Amino acid sequence: MKLSIIVPVLNESESLIELSREIIAACEQNNIPFEVIFVDDGSTDSSWVVISECSKLDSRISGIRFRRNFGKAAALTAGMRAADGDLVMMMDADLQDDPAEIPKFLSKLETGFDVVNGWKQRRLDPWHKVYPSKVFNWMIGKLTGLWLHDHNCGLKLFRREVTHEIRIYGELHRFIPVLAAARGFKVTELPVHHRERQFGHSKYGVKRFLRGFLDLLTVKFLTGYGQRPQHLLGGIGFCLFGLGSLGLAFLAAIWMLTNIGGMSFDPIGSRPLLAYSMASMLLGAQAVSLGFIAELLIAYTGRDVETYSVKERTAPRVDAIESTAASH
Ligand code: UDP
Ligand code: MG
Repeated sequence: MKLSIIVPVLNESESLIELSREIIAACEQNNIPFEVIFVDDGSTDSSWVVISECSKLDSRISGIRFRRNFGKAAALTAGMRAADGDLVMMMDADLQDDPAEIPKFLSKLETGFDVVNGWKQRRLDPWHKVYPSKVFNWMIGKLTGLWLHDHNCGLKLFRREVTHEIRIYGELHRFIPVLAAARGFKVTELPVHHRERQFGHSKYGVKRFLRGFLDLLTVKFLTGYGQRPQHLLGGIGFCLFGLGSLGLAFLAAIWMLTNIGGMSFDPIGSRPLLAYSMASMLLGAQAVSLGFIAELLIAYTGRDVETYSVKERTAPRVDAIESTAASH
């Protein structure tokens, strides 16, 4: 089985030759047929020159160069489209991931999984990365039900079908295991050896945590309600509308008791409940109409989206083959 290794690259020129050497050594020692696809995501250093040289020296190495920086998710997508292996591995270019782990990933996949996700058990990154990332992984587990220690590990192995079915764009590369699991693929994890960054610097700053959290909400929505948005929006809408109606009914009762029953209450116009109830009813109605718009989009534009994932099929029926043969 051929292995395609995809390496997204943003200004990592110092690491690329050593990385290529390590990958070749690991694969050759274990008789693994492979290809390496470097995707240069708009580097401004000499990364592309190095990639071009490597591809001349070894025909198993190739490169794709973006016109500008489009992000790691786009780089991985371009690599996945170009890959022709039965198995696809992604690996960071900064030498933090160790190519010597490749055989372990292959054996783990063979025990019956579709995705093997790396887990940097002893992580050699600064503390301001390590601790927030623990919280982030916990939040993903809590919200999606897929409990992994290291969702965003740069080292992952998948069967080729997985790369055909998941769509990663923006910064959704952090959610590859979640997106794969949502389509029924079996996901597991494997502790990996992590190394300190030797050259260059990390491409992600503190902004990643807020963005990551917003993306987590998007992924939760897409995987949970992507095909039935009204169940979420309409659900929220009905609750809000119901609460608002209750508030107004209460105020109506007070109005009647005062004006018809002759009892004495504060006038309803001066009560905060009036404003809250009206706002709640309006927001509720709006959420339901938003839900209808979302449903319209799916009904009329979602025709080509595969909403299901086929694991296998039986062989074609004998009578079907015979009837096709007879008609020719
Ligand atoms: N990367 C990329 N495009 C980007 C940002 C990063 O291709 O816009 C690559 C980068 O060159 C590296 C990998 O993605 O190979 C992971 O990035 P980095 O090591 O900076 O992330 P960290 O390990 O700090 O989470
Ligand atoms: Mg790194």
